[in-house]
Amino acid sequence: MPEVLLVTSPLFLRHRTPPDHPERPERLTAVLDALRQSGLEEALRLTKEVAPVDRDLLETVHRPHYVEEVARVARGGGGYLDPDTYVSPESLDAALVAAGGAVLAVEEVLGGRAQAAFALLRPPGHHALAARGMGFCLFNNAAVAAVAARYRHGLRRIAIVDWDVHHGNGTQALFYNDPSVLYVSTHRERWYPGTGHWEEVGAGEGEGFTLNIPLPPQTGDEGYRLIFEEVVVPLLDAARPELVLVSAGYDAHFADPLGGMLLTATGFRTLAQLTVEATARVGGRFVGLLEGGYDLTGLSTSVVATLEVLTQRSAGLTVPHHGFQEVPYTVIRERIRRARTVALNYWRI
Ligand code: ZN
Repeated sequence: MPEVLLVTSPLFLRHRTPPDHPERPERLTAVLDALRQSGLEEALRLTKEVAPVDRDLLETVHRPHYVEEVARVARGGGGYLDPDTYVSPESLDAALVAAGGAVLAVEEVLGGRAQAAFALLRPPGHHALAARGMGFCLFNNAAVAAVAARYRHGLRRIAIVDWDVHHGNGTQALFYNDPSVLYVSTHRERWYPGTGHWEEVGAGEGEGFTLNIPLPPQTGDEGYRLIFEEVVVPLLDAARPELVLVSAGYDAHFADPLGGMLLTATGFRTLAQLTVEATARVGGRFVGLLEGGYDLTGLSTSVVATLEVLTQRSAGLTVPHHGFQEVPYTVIRERIRRARTVALNYWRI
């Protein structure tokens, strides 16, 4: 049976951010260390070399003048694109390889050479717009991967499930009118970057192909599980995607400094399990792409938990009982009702 592919590259560590920036190279070294200790590494095929994304493909998503702007800032020794988003001298190369890694992951699973893939990328991508980087993101890795699946492999039904605690405004905007890409996001309500309202459902031919599920702070494992079981999974069953890309951010982890949610690594394992099972049920392929996640332990244990699902092995992860004060069940039920009401306008779920 083909293996599970883990996309990594030493270049991802060379996208350097200023001191105290949460999106830092140590995020990836922490994950790689945890994987080594987990024993899961032997069940994974790690990429040896990842090529930069093809420029034509990148420019299907991003405007050439924006790509040139990133290049110019990198060449000039580095600088900020916005107050959060930094470009260092090697960030362009890292970002080109990150997008290339997302494409490689898709090509390997669609070509049958990997049964599933997870890409440990930096910089992240889901906030990046066609002509603007923001929110730590330079190029939109998930969007480039979706475009590769569509134009190079002729896929017509792609889903992007975005469980990062922030709304993926870039991904949503890039496919807002596009019925070939279903975008579904769970995110903290009234949080950065301020988009992702219930009313944002796509437009034109793409109406109904965007579903936003804003969640209250302190949503925990049970709340997320119910949202996935009763909304996200039925939607995937109805949409029958040939490829499911997960914008896998881990900043909804309870220890994350940017999230304010209460997911544990076990909770992330449940979300991965539900998504992987739904993908398999409809005959699709699964590719995870790292987005956020800024507590090193929260991030690394949660990625290990995700890879436990993909490799069908146990790393012996245990999460102590935390006794969290989670958002009340009645509040979650109301979110489920509202999300299903929106989705039912377009889908039989
Ligand atoms: Zn995030």
